[in-house]
Formats: sequence, structure tokens, C-alpha cells
Amino acid sequence: MKNTTVLISGASVAGPALALWLGRMGCTVTVVEKAPALRLGGQAVDFKGATHLTVLERMGVLDEVRRRQTGGTDQEVVDADGRRLAVIPGAFTGGDIEIRRGDLAALLYERTRRSCEYVFGDSITSLTETTGGVHVTFERGAPRTFDLVVGADGIHSNVRRLAFGPESGYVNFTGHYYALADLGLDHPPAMYNEPGRMAALGGPKAPAFFVFASGRLDYDRYDAEQQKRLLIDAYRGMGWKVPELMARLRDAEEVYLDSISKVRMDHYAKGRVVLLGDAAYGNTLGGFGSGLAIVGAHVLAGELAEADGDHVTAFARYEEIMHRYATVTGQSSAGPFLAPPSPLRITMRNWMFKRSLLLRVMLKATDRFARSVELKDYPALAPVGGSTR
Ligand SMILES: Cc1cc2nc3c(=O)[nH]c(=O)nc-3n(C[C@H](O)[C@H](O)[C@H](O)COP(=O)(O)OP(=O)(O)OC[C@H]3O[C@@H](n4cnc5c(N)ncnc54)[C@H](O)[C@@H]3O)c2cc1C
Repeated sequence: MKNTTVLISGASVAGPALALWLGRMGCTVTVVEKAPALRLGGQAVDFKGATHLTVLERMGVLDEVRRRQTGGTDQEVVDADGRRLAVIPGAFTGGDIEIRRGDLAALLYERTRRSCEYVFGDSITSLTETTGGVHVTFERGAPRTFDLVVGADGIHSNVRRLAFGPESGYVNFTGHYYALADLGLDHPPAMYNEPGRMAALGGPKAPAFFVFASGRLDYDRYDAEQQKRLLIDAYRGMGWKVPELMARLRDAEEVYLDSISKVRMDHYAKGRVVLLGDAAYGNTLGGFGSGLAIVGAHVLAGELAEADGDHVTAFARYEEIMHRYATVTGQSSAGPFLAPPSPLRITMRNWMFKRSLLLRVMLKATDRFARSVELKDYPALAPVGGSTR
């Protein structure tokens, strides 16, 4: 096979999933991750329907993912006095299997760290395509040349910026922000809304989770203190436990604030550089991010194997398959659903959770979306000697 030395940027879900397949195909894989070590914290992610589960099974990690699953916690929607208004069933937010993103990343890292090279605490600074490869420079490490480069570095992808241009051309802001924090409160899963704002505690996604409507905010994504101030401003005057949460936020060690955005790209590849996962088709909180990432990794590796490493053919097929799939699953918009804009819309959203028939229809629809890709059986990706390890 041609093109067997591959650099992947990003060691979360998409990157290590691809490393697993490429390692099995005998490629020489390097994964570069900006964080100084594997990022273990974070929200729960979920997989829905037969397609996602089949890919996890082919990867040989399904049983382990099941063992580590957090599993469908119901969450109460409450009023300002904490009285229950509705219950969001665990199956709605947690799909078929729910696992912490950090646990999933750790599992994939564990399965790939012997077959590929991981470089933490570094980042690509330039990509120059030559006739036979891509010359890559790094913030810290020495320059190197690879046959192919994969950007699996999330919705604010560095590789996308370097190869395709600024993120303003590809990342569409939806008018909402979300924030995650650990405020040291042990609270049963509950969610409270006022128009355009949501605060949740103890829920399936994070210990404290906020979604709010807003115009664009100008801030540094790596400045936690600035993010705290923005969040406190956005939640001023809100009822329920919010004043206490904001008081605790001042001392919180970790807070993460980001926009709810959708990535829209006509092409995922440019020459020898290709994008995977949220970098190519991210839809914040859309509910399909991890599923898309693992299906995308499977398709990309499979098409490379089928094309005998010919990246032009393989990338075109990957793009065609994933474009269709990502367009179907990219329709959902989390912001207005989690933080409806008016009292009426909040009541209507809560009402939906009380109608089991309506909920079943919605769950069936998400399952259908998650299955809306034809999963080829790529023989080259089969585990060597039948072992899935
Ligand atoms: C609150 C929240 C809830 C979510 N809930 C769900 C859910 O219920 N279901 C679901 O399927 N998905 C969910 N997601 C989305 C899911 O986490 C992602 O879609 C999924 O992990 C795929 O991500 P990825 O690997 O493509 O990118 P990411 O997980 O964003 O990882 C990108 C990696 O690249 C690294 N990186 C960034 N910049 C650089 C650089 N310059 N150089 C090298 N490395 C870099 C980052 O440190 C990170 O490790 C949720 C996300 C959030 C934030």
C-alpha cells in the first residue's frame, strides 16, 4: 500500500479511532496532541443505533465501552422552587451507550499506544505539500515529512485553519453558548430554564452545565477567569440555584465556555491533508459527534485500504460517504432546544417529555438518522488472526 506514514492532529475520539485502524493496516502513525497529556475530563458522549455499535464492535472496543458506560440517567426539569415539571429520560440524552469522553479517549489510547507514536504538548505550525508528502513544522518538535496529514483536532481545528483557511469560513455560530464546570455540588440530575437560558446540575453531560442565547462574545478560549466573568454576566438575575452556582463559579478550578456552532465544508480534503470528526462536520451538542467521528475514521481507513493507499481516490470516496451522512445528522440544533427563547417554547419543550408516544417517535427518528449511512465491510480492516485487540 502507498502512503503509509500518517500524522494525525488530535488525540480525543476521532484521532485515536483512526490510529487504531491505520495501525491494523500496518501504517506508521504519529498522533500529535496540543494538551500536555491525554485530556481525561469532560462530558459524556453517546452512541446511537446499529451503525455506531457495529463500528465499535469492529474496532474491538464495544464490550469495554459497555463496561465503562455511564448509562442513561433520567433528569428532572424543575421550576424556580425545585418542583418537578417534567422528566427527560436517560435514553433521550444518552443514546444506546453513554460513556465519558475522557474514558473513551483513554480506552482508544490504550489500544493504540503500542502501535503508534503519541506526541503530547505539541502542535503543527505549518503544512507544506511537496510532490511526495507533506512537510510539517511543529511548535516544539523538529520538522518532519509525512505521506498524509489528518486533522482530528476538533471544531476549532488547527489543521483546518492551516490547510483551508480561517475558521470564520467554515464554522457557523448558532447564537448560543454552552459552559461546563465542576462546582463541587453533589446534586440529583436537574435542569432549570428561563427564556434563552438553561442551568443544569448533576446531569448526564457534566456536573454543572449551562446553555444560553447570546450574540457573539469576544474572549480568549484559554482564559478561564474571563470565561467565568462572561458566564456570571449571562446568568445575572436568574432564579433557582443559579445565584449559588455563580458564587461557586468564582472559585471553580475548571470552566469551559464555547459557542454552539456547526461546521460546514464542501470538501474535507485538500491534497494530502484531510479532516476527520468535529474538525470536518462538528455540530456542538448535536448528539452525533462521537458517532460521526468513529464512523468517519472507519470509512477513511477503509477507503484508503480499498484504494491501496491512493489518497486522491480514497479521500474523494470518504468525502462523498461522510458528506451525505453528516448532512443528515447535522440538522439538529441544541441551543433552542436546551434554552428555548420564550416561556411558551419552554412549556412546549417540557410537554414533549411528558408524551411517551412523541418521545418514542423522536427516539426512532434519531436512531434512523444515526443509521443513515451504508456501512461497507472493508476486509483490510478485519482484526489480524481474529483478535480484536
Ligand atoms: C458538553 C458536550 C456534550 C456532548 N455530548 C455529546 C453527546 O451526547 N453525544 C455525542 O456523540 N457527542 C457529544 N459531544 C461531542 C463529542 O465530544 C465530539 O463530537 C466527539 O468527541 C468527536 O470529537 P473529535 O475527536 O473530532 O474532536 P474533539 O473531541 O474536540 O478533540 C479534538 C482534540 O484535538 C486536540 N487539539 C486541539 N487543537 C490542537 C492542536 N492545535 N494540535 C493538536 N491537537 C489539538 C484537542 O485537545 C482534543 O484532544 C459533546 C460535546 C460537548 C462539548
